Amino acid sequence: MNPKEHGEVFVLNDGGEVDLDLGNYERYLNITLTRANNITTGKIYEHVIQRERKGDYLGKTVQVVPHITDAIQDWIERVARIPVDDTGEEPDVCIIELGGTVGDIESMPFIEAMTQLRRRAGKNNFLQIHVSYVPVINGEQKTKPTQQAIKAVRSAGLIPDLIACRCERSLEASAIQKIAHFCQVDLEQVIVVRDMPSIYQVPMLLEQQGVIPLLKEILRLDQLTLSSALVSKGHSIWAEWKTLTATENRFFETVTIVLVGKYVELHDSYLSVIKSLEHSAMRCKRKLDLQWVDSEHLEPATSARDPAKFHKAWHAVCTAAGILVPGGFGQRGTEGMVAAAKWARENHTPYLGICLGMQIAVIEFARNVCGIAGATSEEFGGSPSTSTGISTSAASSGSGSAADSRVIMFMPEVDKASMGATMRLGLRPTLFQPGSEWSRLRGLYADREQRGGGSGTILERHRHRYEVNPAFIERLEKGGLSFVGKDDKGERMEIIELKDHPWFVGVQFHPEYLSRVLDPSRPYLGFVAASAGLLDEVAAEMKRERVVVVNGVKAGVEVTQRASLWS
Ligand code: GLN
Repeated sequence: MNPKEHGEVFVLNDGGEVDLDLGNYERYLNITLTRANNITTGKIYEHVIQRERKGDYLGKTVQVVPHITDAIQDWIERVARIPVDDTGEEPDVCIIELGGTVGDIESMPFIEAMTQLRRRAGKNNFLQIHVSYVPVINGEQKTKPTQQAIKAVRSAGLIPDLIACRCERSLEASAIQKIAHFCQVDLEQVIVVRDMPSIYQVPMLLEQQGVIPLLKEILRLDQLTLSSALVSKGHSIWAEWKTLTATENRFFETVTIVLVGKYVELHDSYLSVIKSLEHSAMRCKRKLDLQWVDSEHLEPATSARDPAKFHKAWHAVCTAAGILVPGGFGQRGTEGMVAAAKWARENHTPYLGICLGMQIAVIEFARNVCGIAGATSEEFGGSPSTSTGISTSAASSGSGSAADSRVIMFMPEVDKASMGATMRLGLRPTLFQPGSEWSRLRGLYADREQRGGGSGTILERHRHRYEVNPAFIERLEKGGLSFVGKDDKGERMEIIELKDHPWFVGVQFHPEYLSRVLDPSRPYLGFVAASAGLLDEVAAEMKRERVVVVNGVKAGVEVTQRASLWS
């Protein structure tokens, strides 16, 4: 999946690299998914071919219908039973998102499979929501595309129970009537999903239109047996969600963050990063003003070629309250990132480096504080196959060497021959090191440490091939860079932090994959809070919440609720 075409690659606990939509589901439903939750045509065909090779079809001719369509249904039924939260129970409802557009050649076997699944699941066990776009042309809301799309799914055998209409403004009554009439549904089955000031207000929009009673009725949700604890937890989450998101319109003070990256043309390439910043800004009661800077524009070459671009980019960096360098691959634009990290360090502007962003901060520190001239990453050249980022040089084959200036090196255990799914992936522990009690980031992670047994261990998701070269650690530490978090063997550097700086933090993992609306990712929260000048306040608030969890003492209803909601 090319980040410029598909947007971000989302990473799951089990290391599955999946479509970014799975991130939306994890965030909105507060669930944990597995790689099996992401079905692709390739996975299904591979599965069927393997079964055929094993002789499972007893030599019969293998066809799209029924073999592929059966495999899709079996896959869904199997996945629907996997627990997705810490209750460890089988889920009651499974949401299937059939991506793409009706009529796509790729989706035809899937549409046929859904038609069959409707029958397999039986009455009151299947509900279909068709999502359609209602464009406005010359001021008129056009329902024709919706009518055509519904016709197409109907002829494929799929009959929608609800039609969700995406539109900029609320639909006029006449448009709703037209859709209901031509698509042969009742008026109440047409749901208007108009643009909202914030995406977090969409659940309330759906509630106002009576979606919940409709779901209850069609799926007989009232007949489910749920523990009263689960029901009241749901009510509390809903109440807190409403309180938090309803006040969002009333945040007038902004916090300006600049994102210095390489794929800035397509904002979806950083979807989880944006979401984590939004969650954190909401928690800090600030409006997020996110500025995008193409890191190449910060480089001297741009200054010569296009001075206006260069100065505009630097203006954004110099005026931002916080500087974020997110993950990325390859050399292009990295010198601009190094320059942004230098600015942040020298000017005491809060900095957050994610994965590549942490490696960039290490390179900058090595060059400009430790005097390691030309400090660089093995990913950025000097090797025969720099375009792929895969190095075959001798220095990469084992423990790092200080003989060169590669302060970031290829991880020894990573497969060098194959590029697919061979990175260090998924949920892994990071241990805060003895003596790191001063760490501002650690302070914010305290309740997570509690969950991990109180041993200073936190769990975050990873996706990288390169790491800090151990041969340079002593020199970097002498210069004042603290490695406050390492992996469970003490071999991999996971967190860097500067003591004499308001917030200069780099993490080798991707904390954005675990951020939640009501429980923002801690590195992002600390970064946004520091940028807004609120770090001490937020840290104190988190500490109060922790006391509640640890002692079970009621220190205020609001705080008690929030602390227990997502745990
Ligand atoms: N390219 C770097 C690596 O592979 C960083 C990866 C990332 O930012 N996800 O280590």
